[in-house]
Amino acid sequence: MTTRSLFWFRRDLRLADNPALLDALSAADETLLLFIMDNDVAERAGPYRRAYLSDSLARLDESVGGKLAVVSGSHAQVLRDLSQRYGITSIHAAREFAPYGVAAEREIAAAGIAVEYTGSSYAIAPGRVRKPDDTNYRVYTPFFRAWQNHGWRGPAAAPSNPQFVELEGSERNLPTWPTPAGVDIQEAGEKAALARWSAFKVEGLSEYDEQRNIPGVAGTSRLSPHLRWGEIHPRTLLAGLNQRTAHEIFRKEIAWREFYADVLHHNPHTSRDYYAPAFAAMRYDQPGAKFQAWCDGMTGYPIVDAAMRQLREEGWMHNRARMVVASFLVKDLHIEWQHGAEHFMKYLIDNDVASNSHGWQWTAGCGTDASPYYRVFNPIEQGRRFDPDGNYIKRFVPELSHLSAPDIHTPWDVLDGHLHDYPQPIVNHALERLESLARLAEIKASKEPNPHQPA
Ligand SMILES: Cc1cc2nc3c(=O)[nH]c(=O)nc-3n(C[C@H](O)[C@H](O)[C@H](O)COP(=O)(O)OP(=O)(O)OC[C@H]3O[C@@H](n4cnc5c(N)ncnc54)[C@H](O)[C@@H]3O)c2cc1C
Repeated sequence: MTTRSLFWFRRDLRLADNPALLDALSAADETLLLFIMDNDVAERAGPYRRAYLSDSLARLDESVGGKLAVVSGSHAQVLRDLSQRYGITSIHAAREFAPYGVAAEREIAAAGIAVEYTGSSYAIAPGRVRKPDDTNYRVYTPFFRAWQNHGWRGPAAAPSNPQFVELEGSERNLPTWPTPAGVDIQEAGEKAALARWSAFKVEGLSEYDEQRNIPGVAGTSRLSPHLRWGEIHPRTLLAGLNQRTAHEIFRKEIAWREFYADVLHHNPHTSRDYYAPAFAAMRYDQPGAKFQAWCDGMTGYPIVDAAMRQLREEGWMHNRARMVVASFLVKDLHIEWQHGAEHFMKYLIDNDVASNSHGWQWTAGCGTDASPYYRVFNPIEQGRRFDPDGNYIKRFVPELSHLSAPDIHTPWDVLDGHLHDYPQPIVNHALERLESLARLAEIKASKEPNPHQPA
């Protein structure tokens, strides 16, 4: 009799370099391929992410000859139901470490369903890199060294002659969520991920150290959506790197992703809460009209607006720009980082709770070895330094395309700066910087020992 295993695709929508899939294939004569659609999550994900996921699943389905089952429901219920109907003898998947994935694994275990977990979407699974005293790292640089010394496996082989279960019909519910009008989302899928990586190795990697901070050039890999959905594994990327400076810096960026996953694994509350709790006591402003201007790319600060419009137009934003807009929200508008993180999660196709929450907390000064709170990004200087010719601004803020650098960074200083209705700055950066430092001083003062109380 033909034996059947089940492979549950999670954040690993690929065939190559997928050890859990190889396990499933070797466990039985044929393997049922499953993606579980959580309709609540899909609803919350918003149209950008839904469109990307739809595209990714369609391409995965194509690569397995139309044999991908997409089934909605609770994890335990779907796994149990399919196991019974298809006579499954073992279920295989990769582990997840963010709160949602961990909760799903608990739900399945509580229902008494056995799943064999192999690997994760990291080169080294969160929780595995430990300090000599067996505690977890809180600072990136020593983590990076230990992570590098720990090492990782090489990429796993692609499956050869895999046998997939022919579906009975009702399980083929591939979503068909369209890309929102006017939005340009990059192509999803394993093939696109591998092609992007190959092209970046030839065209971008050797200059990565010099180009990665310039949002106006294609100087970074844009692999983040592929990594987020597991269309490529970081092992595959790491295996293609050598010891040259640019390669080393790229490896360090991969390690940031691993570091933040490790930090979130040990501190799951920090997906929404402050890593440094003292910052919860700071005075913040409620999101109102200024927050909306930030979301809409209408703050009157060109680099901030270009970045926020890139997010809306592409579902992605350059890393330098993410830091600039995050600093602006927290330190110029005095709004809590969670509001910004939530807005990012609504639009980013690479949304990753660990990198997002901790990227925000780093910029806001309340995260692990964060940029100190008193270091406030100056949006004008950031524009001049990292978009010297104004190419990034011109691309996303057409109201300023008639200006050249350096005027494009300070349109309020030139006569025709607001010719095409570009808004005036919604705040005065110099004053807001002082305001944010004053608010920092308040929480610092409240932490100082009370002289009236005995030590
Ligand atoms: C406020 C804020 C929010 C962020 N939110 C996310 C998010 O939701 N999802 C996400 O993947 N990244 C996030 N990042 C990190 C970073 O901005 C993106 O990973 C990067 O811009 C992706 O572009 P890329 O693939 O071209 O990166 P590259 O420069 O080509 O880097 C290669 C890979 O390294 C990893 N990486 C690079 N920089 C970082 C970083 N600072 N932190 C963690 N991983 C990094 C990513 O996986 C990236 O794909 C955030 C950063 C900030 C400051």
